Amino acid sequence: MAVLQPEALAREADGRRGRTLPSIDPNTGELLGEVPLCGEAEVRAAVLRAREAQPAWAARPLQERIEVLRQVQEVFVDQADEVAQLASREMGKIESESLVGDVLLTLTSLDGYLRLAPSVLRTRRLRHGLLHLTKRSYVVYEPLGVVAVISPYNFPVLLSMQSAFAALIAGNAVVHKPSEHTPLTALKVREILLEGGVPEEVFQVVTGDGATGWALVHAGVDHVSFVGSSQTGRKVAAAAGEQLISATMELGGKNPMIVLEDAPLERAVNAALTYAFAANGQVCGSVSRLLVHESVADRFLAGLRAGLEAWRVGREVRPGGVQTSAVVSEAICRRIEGHVRQALDQGAVALVGGERADAEAPVFRPTVLVNVPEGAKVLQEETFGPVVTVRTFRDEDEAVRIANATPYGLTASVWTRSASRAWRIARALEAGTVAVNDHLWPFFAPDVAWGGVKASGLGRVGGEWGLRAMTYPKVVSFDRLNLRREFYWHPATARMHQVIRALVPLLYSRRLRKRLAGLKALLGTLLRGSH
Ligand code: NAD
Repeated sequence: MAVLQPEALAREADGRRGRTLPSIDPNTGELLGEVPLCGEAEVRAAVLRAREAQPAWAARPLQERIEVLRQVQEVFVDQADEVAQLASREMGKIESESLVGDVLLTLTSLDGYLRLAPSVLRTRRLRHGLLHLTKRSYVVYEPLGVVAVISPYNFPVLLSMQSAFAALIAGNAVVHKPSEHTPLTALKVREILLEGGVPEEVFQVVTGDGATGWALVHAGVDHVSFVGSSQTGRKVAAAAGEQLISATMELGGKNPMIVLEDAPLERAVNAALTYAFAANGQVCGSVSRLLVHESVADRFLAGLRAGLEAWRVGREVRPGGVQTSAVVSEAICRRIEGHVRQALDQGAVALVGGERADAEAPVFRPTVLVNVPEGAKVLQEETFGPVVTVRTFRDEDEAVRIANATPYGLTASVWTRSASRAWRIARALEAGTVAVNDHLWPFFAPDVAWGGVKASGLGRVGGEWGLRAMTYPKVVSFDRLNLRREFYWHPATARMHQVIRALVPLLYSRRLRKRLAGLKALLGTLLRGSH
């Protein structure tokens, strides 16, 4: 896909007043609705409104903001089916997966933040140690101001609201730029927030495409929470850096699942079926590279193949329909086809699948590739489709070497009955999270730090890390004694120098002898009187 350069993006964001963006169901081709394609003027206006509204929201006690979001939680529960259906129709994955990812896990995340917030965001007293006994200091977690949330299409609710909820609870206003593929879902979620009592200027949605996102990053926001591809993330991070605003980047992955010879094999096969193919492979944490110990590879692959033979592929996303449906767009389907075809041309073998399933819709067959040559794109770049590669290994070192040999480092899993082997491998893997005998599970927990290393991102969302990322720590420090001066203030005297010299060993030496010498020198100086 062609990537617009910054100047072109800025030009695009201008002068698009009145233009609209269609939302299309990739399974049926049906037009679901049209939304404004917001340009720079609309985006800037939204940010200004948010800036005006934010102080009053931040001024409400934390407990009051928590109460509002508890109301939102209730409204969300009541509208679970509508949200799941809309997210499924806009991006193509089956409805049950929307219900898990976009409803259940979004509520898990919200509930987690609401439970954690009182302790994580409370003002705390600092303990400075002996040298600063005359001080009493506190750290207050201040909101950043206006937070831009830019999100991808694959789990449009979870991946925007995981950041937005943390931002709101911490007292920020949010302007959300959803994916161009899922604007209606974003607007539906906004309705839920407003019905729950969030003030309308405190949570706004600007619909549009990449140029709209670029305009938002440059509209005077205080923080950018970006979830999307590494390619876009690099540009957004650079723009945030230029403006010296903070940013978190949750980006792509090429995630390995390492199956050792003592793995619980049946469970591992079922997990591979789920995590390689869920949401038609459009999950940042998908299993995209299966690394299987050579002694269990045949059994593992037989299980995988048997599972996929019973798989239903098609366009019926309603409960009880298919397991694999359309990916989000024809362009994404062509990218998947391109990766698979290149691997096959270079000698890979499709054990299962290997081609699209439907000439009329972007449905790609679940695909298992073996014998994939080292340089193939499918091993190095995000395919973001229902495609998994399989490679065998002989020992742990080889598994770790292969697992780490990509530019990405989002998540990984290790399958073994030995906790010590799991620990050893987990520590050696370059990834933000490592699950043992499960995959991606850490992302589902409300108190886990989620994020990647290398090209997979910067910063963390989730739990206490996600809440604190939406604040800056402000220290307020009181002097308790109001003495005439501190011992190190000007005018500098020889006596002041001696006092400081005595304090160095007294406070910080680990040898009793040196500390006593320091104490003696200090007393001597003090007893000698002034000057
Ligand atoms: P994308 O990078 O194409 O788009 C993400 C968002 O950025 C969209 O809203 C898009 O309109 C916007 N955007 C595009 N260009 C922009 C620009 N120049 N400035 C500002 N905003 C811009 O990603 P996508 O295709 O929607 O989503 C899939 C990607 O997201 C995959 O790479 C996937 O791995 C990643 N992802 C990561 C996580 C994670 O937690 N690490 C989670 C889900 C998805």
